[in-house]
Amino acid sequence: MPPLVYSIPMRTRFRGITVREGLLLEGARGWGEFCPFLDYDDTESVPWLASAHEAADEGWPEPVRDRVPVNCTVPVVTPARALEIVTASGCATAKVKVADPGSPLSADLDRVAAVREALGPGGHIRVDANGAWDVDTAVSAIGTLARAAGGLEYVEQPCRTVEELAAVRRRVAVPIAADESIRRAEDPLRVAVAGAADIAVLKVAPLGGVRRALAVAEACGLPCVVSSAVESSVGLAAGLALAGALPNLEHACGLATMALLAGDTTPTSFTPVNGHLPVPRTPPTPDPTVAADAETTARWLDRLARVRRLRAG
Ligand SMILES: [Mg+2]
Repeated sequence: MPPLVYSIPMRTRFRGITVREGLLLEGARGWGEFCPFLDYDDTESVPWLASAHEAADEGWPEPVRDRVPVNCTVPVVTPARALEIVTASGCATAKVKVADPGSPLSADLDRVAAVREALGPGGHIRVDANGAWDVDTAVSAIGTLARAAGGLEYVEQPCRTVEELAAVRRRVAVPIAADESIRRAEDPLRVAVAGAADIAVLKVAPLGGVRRALAVAEACGLPCVVSSAVESSVGLAAGLALAGALPNLEHACGLATMALLAGDTTPTSFTPVNGHLPVPRTPPTPDPTVAADAETTARWLDRLARVRRLRAG
């Protein structure tokens, strides 16, 4: 079948985008998803294509577990809405967005307190600052948030650079996770060597596939959390394959992201049950009627052709 181009509205604005676009391609083993964000250039998109082809042409390594725990995500919302989101998710772990430029620390404190109320003392709360703080602000905010949250599992990307992460890590007791600092295969090693993080957030597509991500996990030697790039269910399956194949999985994964999209490319979506998602052996098959408008389709087929030429090198 020729590639299928999709365009799905987001339920909540995320990464500044309101519509998620991408392309599905079929190979001998099934379907893969190619969906680099629109601000990624062709060179940065090459690993995303490698990941799509791994799923479509090679398949994935054998998993060592058949389901993985996942976290729910709490965007910058009111405490009441945060409580609703966490309660409805059924997840024992919540990731709370903090340090949003439009929202003061006091709102973050109220939000994490509401999340703790929803989860109870046994739940895990992690916060994600998306690199927004400087070192001193991070150290102070992390201490205050940890008290308001009744304990934090970890703080994700408190500052932008690896050097800043390392400086914060020396000054706080809460574990530090690196997310944006890990995008290319060599980054996790740099993060580990610099002592910048306790946990590595891995995303399959930017690392070039499940096998590459497994190699990166082994080389960096840090506990890993697998997160999605807000793919449709075809691409999410690759994240689940990685989470299923990691030898150790100590933390819930950020793969319950279908809730962010108002639609899917497959008839059935990966929706958590009791805070877990299943590990698929093969990618799901998309609905053959998946389509985008002519302009979007032409743009993605052109992008695919350019990135293929680069990859063939
Ligand atoms: Mg993050």
